[in-house]
Amino acid sequence: MKIFCVGRNYAEHAKELKNEVPSAPVIFMKPHTAVLTDNQDFYYPNFTKDLHYECEIVLRICKNGRSVSEKFARSYYNAMTVGIDFTARDLQQHQKEKGLPWEIAKAFDNSAVIGQWKNISDEEKNHPFLFSLKKNNEVVQEGNTENLLFSFEKVIAYVSQFFTLNMGDLIFTGTPQGVGPVAIGDRLSASLFDEELLNFAIK
Ligand code: ZN
Repeated sequence: MKIFCVGRNYAEHAKELKNEVPSAPVIFMKPHTAVLTDNQDFYYPNFTKDLHYECEIVLRICKNGRSVSEKFARSYYNAMTVGIDFTARDLQQHQKEKGLPWEIAKAFDNSAVIGQWKNISDEEKNHPFLFSLKKNNEVVQEGNTENLLFSFEKVIAYVSQFFTLNMGDLIFTGTPQGVGPVAIGDRLSASLFDEELLNFAIK
């Protein structure tokens, strides 16, 4: 299983990190050891002092394909959840300044937290999806897929030019504005529309 992630897919988030709005999707990957499921506790890693949440919609790929055209891309996912792309912002900043790869800041163990899966019908794909993240019961991020710079279909088409998609691969589709730090003792909960699909503690 492969995990693809899109960086800077909401203009307001690119701005808050003082990044340029990209002209093509920014893609990076995480290994399968990054996945954390079932609302398990997340243990704050000792290599960072500035761990940030990024709440994102996650798609699950349901068939194999390569060089998928945008027109057919919507049939390549059939399930969705909300997830957290945990980021060691201090390490990421260091790597970015030096022009070094991001993996140690983005792809470490348990950095891809995923909620409970929802099956998504083709009809539902015609409408925007709303999602939100609460930290200690206060809303900190709200996203609307209407504001995506690159739609789910564009991302699938783009990624599949370079990497064969396989059933079960995941795509973290980017985070809206409002990213911020977590601390030991915090609780994060995320919802798709009004349905809570993720709820876990930072230990
Ligand atoms: Zn992200």
